[in-house]
Amino acid sequence: MDTAGILAVLADVPDPEIPAVSVLDLGIVRGVGGGKVQITPTYSGCPATRFIEESIREALDAAGYRDVGIETVLSPPWTTDWISDEGKAKLLAYGIAPPDLAKAATCPQCGSTDTEEVSRFGSTPCKAQWRCTSCLEPFDRFKCH
Ligand SMILES: [Zn+2]
Repeated sequence: MDTAGILAVLADVPDPEIPAVSVLDLGIVRGVGGGKVQITPTYSGCPATRFIEESIREALDAAGYRDVGIETVLSPPWTTDWISDEGKAKLLAYGIAPPDLAKAATCPQCGSTDTEEVSRFGSTPCKAQWRCTSCLEPFDRFKCH
């Protein structure tokens, strides 16, 4: 099985909600081996979950990996810890505060950590809405479990 080739394909599959990051960056891909790709949905309530699997299927088929299966693994559940450092940098560049349980959210506009949560419900079910108290800009943040 061409693990490196499959990983290269997955690195080009964008997250349907945040096209700036790939399913690899977000840690949705749990592993490649045994003739299949194992994925874990970011949030079980996320309407994008099914679309992510279809996107990966299409990308694998297009690259000639039709015999590679996709297995959804629900346990242990995905956490924001699985987002790669590169993925976190891309999220910040895209205007979404990367999750960091140890720190307050960092404002993507001015870098201030004087921020507050406005609503648990942001633009999608996976994100909460935050606001910077320095520059008053609202921004999205991944919900931490
Ligand atoms: Zn700010």
